[in-house]
Amino acid sequence: MIALGLIGGPVSHSLSPKLHNAALQANGIMGEYCLYPINPQEPEKLLNILSKVRSGEITGLNVTIPIKQSVIPLMDELTDTSRSIGAVNTIYSKDGRLYGHNTDAPGFTADLKENCVFQNYSGKKVIVLGAGGSARAVVWALRQMSCLVTIAARDPAQGRSLIDEFRRQSNYMEINSISLDHESLKPYIENTNIVINTTPVGMFPNINESPWPNGLPLPGGAFIYDLIYNPGKTNLVTTAHQMGLRAVNGLGMLVEQAALAFEIWTGISAPRNVMVSAMKLNL
Ligand code: NAP
Repeated sequence: MIALGLIGGPVSHSLSPKLHNAALQANGIMGEYCLYPINPQEPEKLLNILSKVRSGEITGLNVTIPIKQSVIPLMDELTDTSRSIGAVNTIYSKDGRLYGHNTDAPGFTADLKENCVFQNYSGKKVIVLGAGGSARAVVWALRQMSCLVTIAARDPAQGRSLIDEFRRQSNYMEINSISLDHESLKPYIENTNIVINTTPVGMFPNINESPWPNGLPLPGGAFIYDLIYNPGKTNLVTTAHQMGLRAVNGLGMLVEQAALAFEIWTGISAPRNVMVSAMKLNL
C-alpha cells in the first residue's frame, strides 16, 4: 500500500490525483494519491505531514504554491536541482531523511525536447513571458541548455530579482529582463527562436486573453510553448498556429513532472500514455 499526496493551497482544482491514481492503477499498485490543503499559516500541520513522510507512513508528496519555497528549510537534504532552482515540488524519504527535489524543470526540458524542432539548444534565443514560480524552473532549465534568455515581465523588477538569484550561483549567464509590453518586445521579434508563456494569462475561464501584446506579431519561425494546459488550445497557441508556427500547451510538462515524481516514489517506469489519457478525459 502506497500513500502519495499533494500539499499546498488551494489544491482542490489539482489534476495530480487523476494523474497519479491512473498511474498506480495501471501498474496494479495498491494505494492512493490524496489532497492535503495546507497554507503557510499552518506550520504544525505541515511539520506533522512531513514527519509522516520521514517515517514512511506517506511515501511521497508533491508541493504546490504557496509553499514550494517555504518547505526548503524543513528538508534534511535538497537535491542539486531543487537547491539551484530554489523551489521543491517533490518530497520523498531515504534512510529516514527527508529529501526535497524539483521535477518541474526536468519535466519542462523533456517535453520541450519532445516537441521542439531544434537538435541543439545552445545559443538559442528564448523569450520567457512572466517571472513567477514556474518561470524560475523554466529559466533554470533553459540555462542548463545554454539558451540565451530574455525574461519579459509586467514588473521588470521581478525579472531582475530572478536573474540576480541565478547570477549568485554562476557568474556567466546570458540572461536579461525587459518589460512585457509592445515596445519592449518589438526589437526581439526579428531574432527569437522560442517564446514560452509562464503567466496564467489565457487560462480558463479567461480563455480569450493572451499574454503576448496586442498588435505585435509573434516572432516568425519561432516555437511557441504555453505552460497553460486548460484550455488545451489557448489564445496564444491559436494565434501561433494561424501564423503557421509550431506551438504546444503545457500538458506534456504536467505529465512529465508527475511521471518523474512517480518514478522516484515507486522505483518503476511511469505509464506516460495512461497519464496523458487520464488528463485528456478530465480537460
Ligand atoms: P505565479 O507564480 O503566480 O507566476 C505568474 C507570473 O505571471 C508572475 O510573473 C505574474 O506577475 C505574471 N502575471 C500574472 N498575471 C499577469 C498578467 N495579467 N499580465 C502579465 N503577467 C502576469 O504562477 P505560476 O505557478 O508560475 O503559474 C503560471 C501558469 O503556469 C499557470 O497557468 C499554471 O497553471 C501554469 N503552470 C503549468 C505547469 C505545467 O506543468 N504545465 C507547471 C506550473 C505552472 P505578477 O507577479 O506581477 O502578478
